[in-house]
Amino acid sequence: MQLQQVNVGNKSLSDYTTIASRGLMEQIRGLAEPLAGKRVLHLSATAFGGGVAEILYTLVPLMRDAGLETEWRVIFGQDEFFDVTKAIHNALQGNPRGLSEEEQAIFRRYNQGNAEALTDEFDFVIVHDAQPAAMIEHAREAGRRWIWRCHIDLSTPNREVLDFLRPWLASYDATVFHRQAYVPSSDGLAPAYIWPPAIDPLAPKNMALAPEDAAYIVDQFGIDVDRPLVSQISRFDPWKDPLGVIEAWRLLRKNHPNVQLALVGSMAHDDPEGWDYYNQTVAAADGDSDIFILSNLNNVGSVEVNAFQVHSVALIQKSIREGFGLTVTEGLWKARPMVAGRAGGIVDQIQDGETGFLVESVAECAEALNTILEQPHESRVMALRGKEYVRRHFLTPRLLRDWLALFNRLTGNDAAGDELVVSGTV
Ligand code: UDP
Repeated sequence: MQLQQVNVGNKSLSDYTTIASRGLMEQIRGLAEPLAGKRVLHLSATAFGGGVAEILYTLVPLMRDAGLETEWRVIFGQDEFFDVTKAIHNALQGNPRGLSEEEQAIFRRYNQGNAEALTDEFDFVIVHDAQPAAMIEHAREAGRRWIWRCHIDLSTPNREVLDFLRPWLASYDATVFHRQAYVPSSDGLAPAYIWPPAIDPLAPKNMALAPEDAAYIVDQFGIDVDRPLVSQISRFDPWKDPLGVIEAWRLLRKNHPNVQLALVGSMAHDDPEGWDYYNQTVAAADGDSDIFILSNLNNVGSVEVNAFQVHSVALIQKSIREGFGLTVTEGLWKARPMVAGRAGGIVDQIQDGETGFLVESVAECAEALNTILEQPHESRVMALRGKEYVRRHFLTPRLLRDWLALFNRLTGNDAAGDELVVSGTV
């Protein structure tokens, strides 16, 4: 098995000085100084699709620019492995289905094979999510400190599957979760630190895009730019509830028959279920020519996602379960009115009625969309407040600061990292 190095290009911290506060930039420089030349490795399951890849394309080059020798490698896996890791992912979010012995063996076998391919040495190895979590058993000597970065909600896990992972998770030096509520109440896990992820305001997906450029781009996908559009940008996944979005849109159309719907979702290669759910979504759309179901297979990349977000009169993220919901952060950053499920990290981002709408059903979702269409001015004011909230809490420089603080903490520099939130014993 071979680990694949991801080429992330270059980014410069100095480009962020106009966006982040001066205090934060100084803090980053101070924290980076004692870490100069340290080697950092990020391990993840995919370089494409979903929030983890999204974050690493920015975080890795910025860590480099801060003076750390940082790499990102993707583990090797085939469908038999990703079928198992998807079952683990679902179980960790509460699905009762456990793992057969054969599935457990597949998980161990791929993790061991990938671990054996890791022959060099790092100061910090950061393992993202469950797929590579067991590599530590066979590659401990490749990292002086191992950190498990969990991007999903572990508050109500399938205990059996969490217990299966527990021996590995316990052997890390630290774990990191998006929210306090996600830290599983389970003895013997490594110390947990809490911080939310972030978006890169300068990446093509989030950079300023003029409304006419956004319209020009979505026009090429067949959208009628003279009629309103609402969109959900999401993987095709039951937890993201694209079928509920279609139902809500159908209710909305009773009042606003001219509104179009776009469901834009990339297909991640570690998500074999995605196709199945994509097909179900297409079936639910039932050939309606005002529903646009698009993905990277239609050449929807970052700039196109940006265009759909900028062009939409409202953005939807009707998640039932959600780790954090970067699409919500992205939508708020573009000052678009957001309607999102009252789930997971979404509630840390949207103050209901203040900066967007939190909904718990198809009917509520349709009602919120209706309000946005009927009160565009008020909705715009709310969305602008949402943008300011994102500026303060969820942009990449803050995320870099948190990582540097943790590295300092783990190397014994206790004075650094006072701002880190440490969970109680896990
Ligand atoms: N995304 C994308 N293209 C798509 C669908 C999603 O680039 O067609 C991106 C989206 O913009 C966001 C990320 O994938 O940056 C999804 O992250 P999120 O935290 O919302 O959900 P996850 O997929 O990690 O559960």
